[in-house]
Amino acid sequence: MDKATIPDHLYDIVIVGGGPAGLTAGIYTTRASLRTLLIEGASSVSQIVVTDIIENYPGMPEGIGGFELIGRFKKQALQFGLEISSEDVIRIAKTHWGNTEVWRVTSAGRDYEALAVIVATGAYWRKLGVRGEDALIGKGVSYCATCDGPIYKNRDVVVVGGGDAAVKEAIFLTKFARKVTIVHRRKRLRAVKVLEKRALANSKIEFAWNSVVEEITGRNVVEKVKIKDVDSPDIRREIPAQGVFIFVGLTPKTDIVRGIVDVDDGGYIIVDADMQTSVKGIFAGGDCTRKGLRQIITACGDGATAAASAQHYVEELKGESY
Ligand code: NAP
Repeated sequence: MDKATIPDHLYDIVIVGGGPAGLTAGIYTTRASLRTLLIEGASSVSQIVVTDIIENYPGMPEGIGGFELIGRFKKQALQFGLEISSEDVIRIAKTHWGNTEVWRVTSAGRDYEALAVIVATGAYWRKLGVRGEDALIGKGVSYCATCDGPIYKNRDVVVVGGGDAAVKEAIFLTKFARKVTIVHRRKRLRAVKVLEKRALANSKIEFAWNSVVEEITGRNVVEKVKIKDVDSPDIRREIPAQGVFIFVGLTPKTDIVRGIVDVDDGGYIIVDADMQTSVKGIFAGGDCTRKGLRQIITACGDGATAAASAQHYVEELKGESY
């Protein structure tokens, strides 16, 4: 490839996603002098932005708010020359510049082209899929305690789920609510021990063990959550509540690469240890990929690895590899 004729519009790398994985990748690629554009979603935010307090990010012994941490990532990336744009990407497609395969990244209003793409689109909260859930979203049904928790001062709320997110957010909600009932389909929590201990010791938290939500009811706003026992479905009860917070796992945001790169049954992008997807020139990292541990620190690690692999790929295309 003739470097002298590389057109101005052709980026070395386009990163899709503005969470910890995407911004870390941006810090690394710009420090490697690769011209990089990061496209962050215009209509959705990274999960980190709505995380009240992060206690397990190394180097922050007093904890740090998610909004502040991501702001710091961004400031650092901008310092090294990362270009950032807020648009919803709708498509990624292969195209050519001369004999070189390049990638066209299309948003609602524009097309961008790059030698390599890093997909770091993250994931969003999964819905429960019960009667009343959709109709009462924004009327008591929520997927974000940081956003909506303060509305429930001195009120009763239900949290559904038993993982890190459910337990962490239930503890956070006790700052406002009179009572928080965790409805979990098992007899013990799945969350990390430190969170489990705190929840079990919190007098504002009650547990509905071995139970699943059947329906959320209310005329204009949430009034009751109907639950049933997992083993004896005839055992049913109603929990009066004004809010229902649902944390039953994640759905990866991978629609833009479906049919292009390999994904697993859950829709997570399959990557190797170098964050290489099944397609040359497309790398991925963070919560949108198949992996064992979804944490900010592991997303950052993925971003750094994806950046290094993309750098190697781009330099090879340009005949710059050593
Ligand atoms: P998760 O770990 O997958 O847990 C989902 C929980 O929801 C599980 O307890 C699951 O029950 C339950 N569940 C799933 N489908 C359900 C259904 N249809 N009805 C009732 N319950 C259902 O998901 P997460 O808690 O959202 O966490 C996602 C990732 O983010 C994890 O990797 C987590 O470690 C990470 N995260 C970390 C922190 C932190 O503070 N470190 C905070 C938030 C999230 P079962 O247990 O029966 O499967």
